[in-house]
Amino acid sequence: MVYFVGAGAGAADLITVRGSRLLQKADVIIYAGSLVNPELLNYAKTECEIYDSSKMTLEEVIEAVKAAEKDSKMTVRLHTGDQSIYSAVREQMDELDKLGIQYESCPGVSSFCGAAAALNIEYTLPDVAQSVIITRMAGRTPVPEKERLSLLAAHNATMVLFLSAGLADKVREELLCGGYDKDTPVAVVYKATWADEKSFICTVDTLPETVSENKISKTALIIVGEVVTHGNYRRSDLYNPNFTTEYRK
Ligand code: SAH
Repeated sequence: MVYFVGAGAGAADLITVRGSRLLQKADVIIYAGSLVNPELLNYAKTECEIYDSSKMTLEEVIEAVKAAEKDSKMTVRLHTGDQSIYSAVREQMDELDKLGIQYESCPGVSSFCGAAAALNIEYTLPDVAQSVIITRMAGRTPVPEKERLSLLAAHNATMVLFLSAGLADKVREELLCGGYDKDTPVAVVYKATWADEKSFICTVDTLPETVSENKISKTALIIVGEVVTHGNYRRSDLYNPNFTTEYRK
């Protein structure tokens, strides 16, 4: 049996209770060494075999799982944040399907949630934004043309850009071309929830210099939209005395 587990954004105590129990039971752990907090490996049994997937190919990961299955061992495949976002989890599942190996997923706290916590912001404020667009700038990995950053930017919704801090000039160009005002607030959150977390507030216009002055090129998220400075939003209906809900008359 294989468990795909989300490790959380960084801080070791952000893994779920279920995820930590699975780590304690695992005979084999394959963890994404580039971004998973190594402290999480303290949960492992002494005899647990541990592999760092940042040095492995998909084929090598599958070989390690196959070997474990042959000995009826339980494997945890530990991904950073939540594995549903930019983690190449589906291709592993498809290989396991071909081999008839069973698996289950245990979610994690994605870095986009960690970044919101770092800034104490709400991505969805009444009258400001009711949608969050999670995307990335096209780089070595292409993005389908229909999802070009400038096209998504036209919505002026809240945007969270993964894997794009090293491409800040292009991000600025696409955001402006898409219709964001140059003064739209932007936050850059580096290593959200890690001990060396840093965040910077700037604007679409000053994004490239903010990123370069602070030498941020990876492990960062770019958050775009008025929710960053949370001005001019309307109070929610949810807790308004003049508004009734199923739970509160
Ligand atoms: N599955 C992960 C994302 C993996 S892609 C998740 O749910 O968070 C790797 C990218 O995620 C990084 O380049 C960076 O843009 C972002 N990232 C991951 N951890 C981060 C953190 N703690 N703080 C800021 N950005 C992070």
